[in-house]
Amino acid sequence: MKKLSIFLLLLAFSPIAILAQMGPQFKEKEVYRSDDVVFRQIDEHTWLGSGNLMASESLYLIEGNDRAILLDAGTKIADLDKIVASLTKKPVTLIATHVHPDHTGSAIHYFPEMYLNAADTVNIPSIMPDYKGELKFLKDREIIDLGGRKIEVVFTPGHTPGSTSFIDKEAGYGFSADAFGSGNLLLTLDFSTLLATCEKMNAIIENYGLTKLYPGHYFGVNVETPQRVKDMITLSKNVLSGKVKGEERANATLGLNLVVSDYGVRINYNAAQIK
Ligand SMILES: [Zn+2]
Repeated sequence: MKKLSIFLLLLAFSPIAILAQMGPQFKEKEVYRSDDVVFRQIDEHTWLGSGNLMASESLYLIEGNDRAILLDAGTKIADLDKIVASLTKKPVTLIATHVHPDHTGSAIHYFPEMYLNAADTVNIPSIMPDYKGELKFLKDREIIDLGGRKIEVVFTPGHTPGSTSFIDKEAGYGFSADAFGSGNLLLTLDFSTLLATCEKMNAIIENYGLTKLYPGHYFGVNVETPQRVKDMITLSKNVLSGKVKGEERANATLGLNLVVSDYGVRINYNAAQIK
């Protein structure tokens, strides 16, 4: 009996068990499923789509009385325009939270225009060279009026130059995609930029009383919390002051060969970004 309980204890901490616990966990009700994407309903006029190619890459469909916006397009989702049209009858405008293939891949086939932060056009030649649609540019702190529902645009650079978050003040939540990393941030800009982004978002969270930011990926119950944004401020300051040093990481993606990890958050970067 004792042996069995030790075995169970070991099993509970085995990599497989930990990975299983890290799998995406959703409490929202499923309303649509295809081979490429599952949509779940956050509330009456808001849906979360999850692709299955890059750590449950997210799409968010946000509807007002007059029109809807689709934040991101996933990696490769067949007939995404038709799927979205089955969820909302309102005209849909595509907005990219940033230009990475797991957030803009399907845009190439289904959307004739795409809104984005102009700072991310630097990523278009390498990531979306075949996009023939029209690019339209967002402004920092502009309000997108969907009819009875207002969404505020907040530029949050760090993950990419043009990473952008979207705030629904009245609903008390926002959508930050990869800007704060969903618990595992790939930082491609420097720590001063990340610190400024986290301080800007922390002030908005406190002013508006936001409770959460919906992330770009799910590998656990990892909606961004107000506390996480505060922790990232501390972590960024500690890296900038030299109080915390990163560890070398194997299989570095995007040349980010260092990682700091604290408060349950990881930030991946390289030495040139400590400024
Ligand atoms: Zn990304």
